Amino acid sequence: MLERPNRTNLVIITARFEYAESDMKTETILQAVAAVSAAVQAHEAEIESLDRALGDGDHYINVKRGVTAIAAMRDELAPLTPDVALQRIGMKLLSTIGGASGPLFASFFLAMSKRLKEGGAEDMAGIAAAFADGVEAIKQRGKSDVGEKTMLDVLIPVAQTLRQQAEAGAGLPVLLEAIKASAEQGMLSTRDMLATKGRAAFLGERAIGHIDAGAKSTQVMIAAVCDLLANQQ
Ligand code: ADP
Ligand code: MG
Repeated sequence: MLERPNRTNLVIITARFEYAESDMKTETILQAVAAVSAAVQAHEAEIESLDRALGDGDHYINVKRGVTAIAAMRDELAPLTPDVALQRIGMKLLSTIGGASGPLFASFFLAMSKRLKEGGAEDMAGIAAAFADGVEAIKQRGKSDVGEKTMLDVLIPVAQTLRQQAEAGAGLPVLLEAIKASAEQGMLSTRDMLATKGRAAFLGERAIGHIDAGAKSTQVMIAAVCDLLANQQ
């Protein structure tokens, strides 16, 4: 038999509602997709030429195909909970992005989705943990780590910065600036690295002096999400 709502029940319902409001929201994810899509397209020439120098030149096309496909899923994703939305995003990336980066980006979203489903992302520390799970999934899938001239040279420091800032209880503007700076520094750090993973590994010393395309596209995406969130303040 259903309980009649009494005062205690109503307080709990109200508290849950407020709690949900501070959660990661599907609408924010959708806005992030749109912001990422615009930012990636604004950096077309740069990303394309970087992958031409170190890889086969298709990284921009791969990423654009992925973000365009996800942006087109807006109506399908909107009614879903964030964990399910991230799962659909991961599956879509897996089926649309060719090349090495597709399964890597996909595994990031699938791992984040898993953590959200388990109920661990209700605050900034939880979101940081979910992000770290995503990065860990890329490391596993790519059998790669920091210092190998890949997207992980952006993602690993960003995950660390996010965790540190969340643990320190930093306000959102400070946290977002720290993440942007960390992504920028990580992206630039790939310039002087030798590549040991991906196509660039075949170049040996010739890879030195070029920024990795995946590090650049990842930094552009992270900066776009940070700017979006900063402007919502
Ligand atoms: P492909 O290399 O198959 O042409 P893309 O051009 O889309 O695929 O993606 C290349 C990017 O993927 C690289 O710039 C690098 O950042 C990233 N990458 C490649 N291999 C790995 C790996 N094993 N681990 C992490 N990132 C990787
Ligand atoms: Mg390529």
